[in-house]
Amino acid sequence: METKTSLLDNMIGVGDMVLLEPLNEDTFINNLKKRFDHSEIYTYIGSVVISLNPYRSLPIYSPEKVEEYRNRNFYELSPHIFALSDEAYRSLRDQDKDQCILITGESGAGKTEASKLVMSYVAAVCGKGAEVNQVKEQLLQSNPVLEAFGNAKTVRNDNSSRFGKYMDIEFDFKGDPLGGVISNYLLEKSRVVKQPRGERNFHIFYQILSGGSEDLLCKLKLERDFSRYNYLGLDSARVNGVDDAANFRTVRNAMQIVGFMDHETQSVFEVVAAVLKLGNIEFKPESRVNGLDESKIKDKNEICELTGIDQSVLERAFSFRTVEAKQEKVSTTLNVAQAYYARDALAKNLYSRLFSWLVTRINESIKVILLCACKEINKTILENSFEQFIINYCNEKLQQIFIELTLKEEQEEYIREGIEWTHIEYFNNAIICDLIENNQTGILAMLDEECLRPGTVTDDTFLEKLNQICATHQHFESRMSKCSRFLNDTSLPHCCFRIQHYAGKVMYQVEGFVDKNNDLLYRDLSQAMWKANHSLIKDLFPEGNPAKINLKRPPTAGSQFKASVATLMKNLQTKNPNYIRCIKPNDKKAAHIFNDALVCHQVRYLGLLENVRVRRAGYAFRQPYEPCLERYKMLCKQTWPHWRGPARDGVKVLFNDLEIPEEEYSFGRSKIFIRNPRTLFKLEDLRKQRL
Ligand code: ADP
Repeated sequence: METKTSLLDNMIGVGDMVLLEPLNEDTFINNLKKRFDHSEIYTYIGSVVISLNPYRSLPIYSPEKVEEYRNRNFYELSPHIFALSDEAYRSLRDQDKDQCILITGESGAGKTEASKLVMSYVAAVCGKGAEVNQVKEQLLQSNPVLEAFGNAKTVRNDNSSRFGKYMDIEFDFKGDPLGGVISNYLLEKSRVVKQPRGERNFHIFYQILSGGSEDLLCKLKLERDFSRYNYLGLDSARVNGVDDAANFRTVRNAMQIVGFMDHETQSVFEVVAAVLKLGNIEFKPESRVNGLDESKIKDKNEICELTGIDQSVLERAFSFRTVEAKQEKVSTTLNVAQAYYARDALAKNLYSRLFSWLVTRINESIKVILLCACKEINKTILENSFEQFIINYCNEKLQQIFIELTLKEEQEEYIREGIEWTHIEYFNNAIICDLIENNQTGILAMLDEECLRPGTVTDDTFLEKLNQICATHQHFESRMSKCSRFLNDTSLPHCCFRIQHYAGKVMYQVEGFVDKNNDLLYRDLSQAMWKANHSLIKDLFPEGNPAKINLKRPPTAGSQFKASVATLMKNLQTKNPNYIRCIKPNDKKAAHIFNDALVCHQVRYLGLLENVRVRRAGYAFRQPYEPCLERYKMLCKQTWPHWRGPARDGVKVLFNDLEIPEEEYSFGRSKIFIRNPRTLFKLEDLRKQRL
């Protein structure tokens, strides 16, 4: 049977970048473009799938396609996300190897769609029995729920994931999904209280207001008009083509399928409403006799009725801050600015804790691996803030493990096939990871040290400290310290530092680092929340329980994140990784447009060329003997039309006859390894001439 090796079909570009000759950034981008123009959105780098967002629906995900890719070898058909899904699913079922699928790319690149496609493929091929279908359904339905609460419209993407998620699908030995675990890390909680221009808050707020029945809104004491709520961005509240009301029905339905009881759903919506109402609380100054400013809530707010929080408790919590030191309680008054700070901190905490609770709750009903690192490369560099820094750190770690595991996989295949391993040179980004995460001298450790230091701590003192410790690090740049190599670099403002990441230089503005790392929620507020006559809110603030008072400071945002990245890395190391690298072809969310510069930026950011280099440092191409002989046997009298004997011997005869230089290939146990893509092209050319 003729196999469709469109991998080698040059008309539409090469299907595997490993075969690209010559290999450089231009040829890489051109190949992607050529394929994109022919509606080929998938391209391999060995077993890695590059996926370009087509921004239009393509007829390539039908049940017939599922059948086509089912149980076929990776290289037999044109590159497709289903091929990777099939490979992962089969290794899991047949070899009992834990698999994970890492989906990375910037916001809008198609990670969420990719994860849905993987899940529907797996659901389709393992689909037997009611239980399996239920898990499948729950698996797919967890998406709309997570999206409603964790996604938002950004300038670059109407439905951008604002959290990193990691989903672990568990299968039994027959390959049926048992269930899975989703862990979320780093919801972009600053979005709850403030959104960049042209962006929105999380979808759920608009969905409730647009799609909630009169009865629901009345119970939640909400008004339909977005503009009534301070926390909802005004300038882009409605998004063209997005039907918030219809999406709300989808979300409610999904919550039901995932297994939320009605009262739970109601409680969740109450918390969402409470966040909106918090945003409307205003404070006024009230001068006191001792001359200290104290803030007072201006008007009565319905939040207390809604959540069963005692009005006076809440008012007090917004007026005072109690610090406990050595068994002593010291209360200080909050001025108006501090009260607003406390209000926003509470809203952020309330919402992000609700989000984590939702994830945990979903995990209880389904027991599902996908990693979506939400990253966005901001062109307006000054906006690169703490959150971006943290996300780039995660990307740095993912890159590290990516190269490490790719090398390991190559090595293991060579050993399996009995082929000699040749040393591969590659850029090891451990040095950059160390700059960020080293326990003593890393940026995160120094930030923590600043946050915990008594005395006046500001973003500037933090930057000063960085300058002292990191000034000589190769990957760190700043202009502050006198000995800085960058004193005359005017493109680097004084309030910034720059890191040379594996993917390029990124400048970070230090403003907000200390505050965001502290992530302070005054204890008075967690206590007020714990006292609420609302079981969900009470559950969200366990540290507010006076019986559990703990003088230890809660971990900083940075150290919490570092710990979850470490857990993630450990988890990845124990599994067989499969990679999907998503790329956004343009900024307009438009079909058919391929912006070379934008794609180039992402290709660098994802370290894709490095990946091709590692992949073909030894042998660029490998193929089992049978399909190889089948495809090329026509080139040699001795093997045509029938070769009797082992396919391996047939290929040997064939290669000798064609006088392919011996240093160009190696014979492994089950596969032929070809060093240079040119050899393969020569074979292909000869074949075409004969056809
Ligand atoms: P991300 O999760 O990376 O932020 P999404 O997966 O939400 O991005 O993709 C953004 C939008 O792009 C989707 O809503 C969808 O309209 C479109 N899209 C992404 N992948 C595909 C695909 N394979 N086919 C068709 N449209 C897609």
